Amino acid sequence: MTSIDVFTLFPSWFDWFAEQRHVRNASALGLELRAIDLRETTPLRAGQVDDTPYGGGAGMVIRVDVVEAALRERYGEDAAQVRGRRRVIALAAGGRQFDDALADELAEGGDLTLLCGRYEGFDERVHEHLASDVVSIGPYVLSGGELAAMVVCDAVIRKLPGALGDEESAVEESFSPALGGAPEYPHYTRPVEWRGHRVPDVLLSGNHAEIGAWRRARSAERGERRGP
Ligand code: SAM
Repeated sequence: MTSIDVFTLFPSWFDWFAEQRHVRNASALGLELRAIDLRETTPLRAGQVDDTPYGGGAGMVIRVDVVEAALRERYGEDAAQVRGRRRVIALAAGGRQFDDALADELAEGGDLTLLCGRYEGFDERVHEHLASDVVSIGPYVLSGGELAAMVVCDAVIRKLPGALGDEESAVEESFSPALGGAPEYPHYTRPVEWRGHRVPDVLLSGNHAEIGAWRRARSAERGERRGP
């Protein structure tokens, strides 16, 4: 992956995100992360991007022609064609649940476009005809797609080679294939004893085969407790 474009009504939210270490590492290695303001290319007057919902009801809906114009301007082609070339993910509470497998897929795949909704969300035709995927970060409702987009970006970027630097690894982590999809095992550091609670002896043993077996067993236990 060499580029992530985030379409949003609040591009400045991503200024902070772009400054984080793993994002800076990935950027230094060639990743381009851009936040693009949907208002800048709206075909409507006075920066309008939303409209009242057909059928009535509270709230406003982000118009499909606004998203279309933003994609066309950015990629120089028919907006409906963009998803044929790069993953176009619309963030929505009711979408497919984001997980580690999808993060892997995105990190190993091509360039990425994220569409952040606001208000009541996008006109459904954005999901159906402009997006390749509709993704949720969990069964709860956020005020906008920006934090959801950051969650997706964070989980994906830390999987890119070199993003974490040498001292950390994303290989043996919770939900990774290396742990059979189970949560990670527990970690301990100094002090060896705190309020009578000791670090498990095996971790102090220096026996790496036993430590590995102990960690895999704890990880599997956590997976069983968590359920499918
Ligand atoms: N009316 C929508 C519903 O009931 O599902 C909620 C819209 S929410 C206030 C505004 C925007 O926040 C959505 O368009 C979406 O982009 C984003 N959003 C909210 N919750 C989300 C979640 N759990 N995962 C991903 N995006 C979310």
